Amino acid sequence: MTRRRLGLLGGTFDPVHVGHLALARSACVAFRLDELRLMPTGAPWQKSGVIASPAQRLAMLRLAIADDPRLRADAREVERAGPTYTVDTLAEMRAELGPDVSLILILGSDQLRNLASWHRWRELLQHAHLACTQREQVPLADLPAPVEALVQAHGAQSLPDAPAGSIVFFTMPPVPVSATALRQALARGERPAELVPPAVLDYIEAANLYGAGTGGSGHD
Ligand code: ATP
Repeated sequence: MTRRRLGLLGGTFDPVHVGHLALARSACVAFRLDELRLMPTGAPWQKSGVIASPAQRLAMLRLAIADDPRLRADAREVERAGPTYTVDTLAEMRAELGPDVSLILILGSDQLRNLASWHRWRELLQHAHLACTQREQVPLADLPAPVEALVQAHGAQSLPDAPAGSIVFFTMPPVPVSATALRQALARGERPAELVPPAVLDYIEAANLYGAGTGGSGHD
């Protein structure tokens, strides 16, 4: 029996962009995932300045992944009240999935570097593997000491046949985009069609999000 592999990619997705989709698809290929869930965070306690509502971020995400049967949106964090902690989400998913499914949390290098600031971060590996990749210019080398120690203790060359507990790495082509830069371009009145799926750009313009369509007047 082959163990089922479920990937999980959390993010603010404000808005979802081609970097997120490339990351998701690269992880699907690298780990032969049966399914990858993209999960918009509800109240991102480490980020301020989120502009689209949770419902709008979820709607844009659904539009972005509609044509890829491997990708699904998971709304649990936007539906949960209070702060969003990944460790709680992983524990909840593990309880739902049972002990056998391999659960793989996908992280860009910016998130891996920041890992030791996460709530109960040492417990993440009890519920899932961590799969990390370099994001554009953010290096995977010279990690902060506590994160490096975790990698030393749990790093593996390839994904083991186990439900959780290892840290693995994979590569993806660099996709130079961030949601921050994208929001800024939209606020300047640009139409960055190469950075977001067409249906998402249409949604942004129709909902007048991020100052799009206001001639660059911003959203103040
Ligand atoms: P913001 O600019 O608002 O901080 P973001 O573009 O970093 O947003 P997030 O929703 O915070 O997007 O990211 C979710 C996940 O996607 C993280 O693991 C992050 O590392 C990864 N990611 C975002 N952009 C890219 C990209 N261009 N290439 C690879 N991974 C990315």
